[in-house]
Amino acid sequence: MNLERFKEKLVKFMSGRYGIDQLYYALLLLTMVLMLVNLKVDSLILMLLSNGVILLLILRSFSRNISRRAWENKKFLKIWYPIKRKARMLFRRIKEIKVHRYRKCPNCKKTLQLPVKRGKNTVKCPRCQEKFEVRVIL
Ligand SMILES: [Zn+2]
Repeated sequence: MNLERFKEKLVKFMSGRYGIDQLYYALLLLTMVLMLVNLKVDSLILMLLSNGVILLLILRSFSRNISRRAWENKKFLKIWYPIKRKARMLFRRIKEIKVHRYRKCPNCKKTLQLPVKRGKNTVKCPRCQEKFEVRVIL
């Protein structure tokens, strides 16, 4: 069978099916983590669990119930995006630890990027003009 015909058949097979989304990649990553952990602990339960997740992600991507799968993905993203945002902020804090400190304004809750000045400093929030004390120890 030539490649063109195979591609054609695959496109025909996948039409009307859900395909791949962010939840698919998350489940794939979860499976890989479970499998890596299982290399160390060698548990039957973990093996069954990771195979179950693989089955789930295959069934999801071939599913014809597109609205339901999209809804699941939306639910997942609602949980995932805040985690991703916090992780990104944490990496930024670590990367810029020598030049910047990040503090939340106690009044308007905006996160401010401050230059590193050791000791006690008074900071004025550019958004709400509130003045508050910031202490930088290290
Ligand atoms: Zn403020």
